[in-house]
Amino acid sequence: MEQAPAETISVLLPGAGPGPFDYLAAGKDYRRGDIIEVPLGPRRVAGVVWGRGEGQVPPEKLKAAGAAFDVPGFPPVFCDFIDWISDYTLSPKGAVLAMAMRFPDAFVAEAARMGLVATGTQPERLNKQRARVLEIAGDGLVRAGAELAELAGVTSSVIKGLVAAGALAPQALPRRPLPQPDPEFAPAQLSPHQAEAAQAICQAMTRGYAAFLLDGVTGSGKTETYFEAVADALRRGKQALILLPEIALTAQFTSRFAQRFGVEPVAWHSDVPRAQRVRLWRAIASGEVRVVAGARSALFLPMRELGLIIIDEEHDAAFKQEDGVIYNARDMAVVRAHLEGAVAVLASATPSIETHVNAESGRYTRLVLPHRHGAAVMPKVSLVDLTKTPAASGQFVSPPLRAAVDAAFARGDQALLFLNRRGFAPLNICQTCGHRIGCKQCSSWLVEHRYRGRLVCHHCGYEEPKPPACPACGSQGSIVASGPGVERIAEECRQHFPDVRIEIASSDMMHGPMAMQAAISAMERGDIDLLIGTQIIAKGHHFPNLTLVGVIDADLGLSGGDPRARERTFQLLHQVAGRAGRAERPGEVILQTRNPRDPVMQALVSGDRNRFLKQEAAEREPHHLPPFGRMAALMVSGAIESDVEEAARTLAAQAPQDNRVRVLGPAPPLMARLRGMTRLRLIATAPRNFRLQAFLRAWLAGVSLSRKVRVSVDVDPQHFI
Ligand code: ADP
Ligand code: ZN
Ligand code: ZN
Repeated sequence: MEQAPAETISVLLPGAGPGPFDYLAAGKDYRRGDIIEVPLGPRRVAGVVWGRGEGQVPPEKLKAAGAAFDVPGFPPVFCDFIDWISDYTLSPKGAVLAMAMRFPDAFVAEAARMGLVATGTQPERLNKQRARVLEIAGDGLVRAGAELAELAGVTSSVIKGLVAAGALAPQALPRRPLPQPDPEFAPAQLSPHQAEAAQAICQAMTRGYAAFLLDGVTGSGKTETYFEAVADALRRGKQALILLPEIALTAQFTSRFAQRFGVEPVAWHSDVPRAQRVRLWRAIASGEVRVVAGARSALFLPMRELGLIIIDEEHDAAFKQEDGVIYNARDMAVVRAHLEGAVAVLASATPSIETHVNAESGRYTRLVLPHRHGAAVMPKVSLVDLTKTPAASGQFVSPPLRAAVDAAFARGDQALLFLNRRGFAPLNICQTCGHRIGCKQCSSWLVEHRYRGRLVCHHCGYEEPKPPACPACGSQGSIVASGPGVERIAEECRQHFPDVRIEIASSDMMHGPMAMQAAISAMERGDIDLLIGTQIIAKGHHFPNLTLVGVIDADLGLSGGDPRARERTFQLLHQVAGRAGRAERPGEVILQTRNPRDPVMQALVSGDRNRFLKQEAAEREPHHLPPFGRMAALMVSGAIESDVEEAARTLAAQAPQDNRVRVLGPAPPLMARLRGMTRLRLIATAPRNFRLQAFLRAWLAGVSLSRKVRVSVDVDPQHFI
């Protein structure tokens, strides 16, 4: 579109429908990325100029495109990014664009707020109150009427009277600029390792695209280190984007940022109110906002001078979006950095196998922070073999763990017990007939939440009261809770430790981020002695007096045989362990397990993370599992089981013949029924250098399936089996 103005343009509309569509340019000079209004049937909608018209429809049948909105268009490289993701994930371009256009209100300039200014005209009647107002307004500033009234100590009717008398006149209030982060506000004194890492990132920013793995143990100062890179981006007039798992975007993070830069970062995640997001979106598009800290959706903000993207906790599964456009924000962030000539920094204490292998191969540069900051040392990890020293019958805290918790309290320290299970019990069983109470919509058991008195499905949200009699055999009072959730651990601990202050931290016990924040603050202040929590508490938090972490069931999550399960369990438990002993006093971690020989347990005890990663990688390589090969999953789902089975069989039978590709399945996934839908999965694997997307596209184009089923494509799935 660089040459002469095109006669027709193609315009992409947000949404999963077809498109882009051609429109007449009618003499206007449109550019790729312009956000414009176009007619669509009887409506007028916002779309983005994608290029020259594609010419499938003759010009005389086209409608004229409308005017551009009063907002900067998308930078062309941002449009390239959308094209790239669409191509990689096999999602319609419009569906990807929709993620970048979630706040169309932002395309229209906010109506200016009106204030009042002195006109110089003297009112005929000038009493004391009026005189006071005019004296204040005499400085010529525009003020809101209410502010003027307050300053002068008069009522609003005095102000209205002055407007009526022509002494004050309405004028638009100047918009206050957003406070800007100051790179020189409070720089940290970096340790030599930290300084070396920060310098490598800053130097790379002078050259263009580069990707780093900032590989440091928990508490080693990764955040302090990448803050220096953010400061440097600001000094160079570049924008920086910090992506965090939503759960880590706490007040702790924003206040640390404020301590370093003088103001809080612009935060972008689902808890930010819509009206605020609309305003921020405009300020981001205009370039006024220089730093955004956000969840994965922040990757689709149209920053135009992006110089640095940080992906903190890069291994976190929350970066993967599992519905709609299925993508991994971590990987797409690296793609965006590449397209923009920016620097990507992936930070983690427990890198994913993918990232570890990329660092080993040199695709990413590894920067190592080997020690905790200051006097803090890594906690000592030990195992309790539950097959040898079990908890008392009906209990879950073994004697050694209980003794260690007691010892922590005796020292005046805090303790954390970790169990990644919400509620009271994961299952209810009939003692008479063995019936287990499951969800009617999903292949899962209902979890008992005793605090709320309900049985709840954690997959679809279905809930019911606990039945007084067994629904299968009818026997009264025979339904008993089986296994522990955090509520049950809390109940047990109230008996063991009657005098300590206990708090449960799980997403359902704390309604919203405020409650979570309250619990964190209470823990920081020392108002809690024993915190019992799920993964919500595993990450990022810094509790100086927490010196004991106990893991109730370290084996949870290891069953099922998916290679990724070991990696995930290691990451989670390592993160939890990293909460212990982050200040002067050393920390201790106790893992209760039935599999003390498992490589995950061994790696946690020895602390030899790299050996674990190497073993895991070595197991995947011969089978061409990611990252040594490509993988995509096709999920077939529908309301009627036989439809789904037939569609999945047809799909499998019609896979294009290519001896480089292996197609596995159809097989039921872990959740074979979800929200009333039956699901079957096919998996395609291929060598690394194979264009799997082209294969998938040809495959899907060649089959016609019943309209009663849906097929979704997941490139680089999280689950391998
Ligand atoms: P990580 O992100 O690697 O877990 P943090 O950046 O959170 O580590 O650092 C852990 C703790 O050590 C924090 O309280 C942080 O403020 C402190 N810290 C780290 N590096 C420095 C430094 N160079 N100067 C002062 N404090 C630091
Ligand atoms: Zn029964
Ligand atoms: Zn359910």
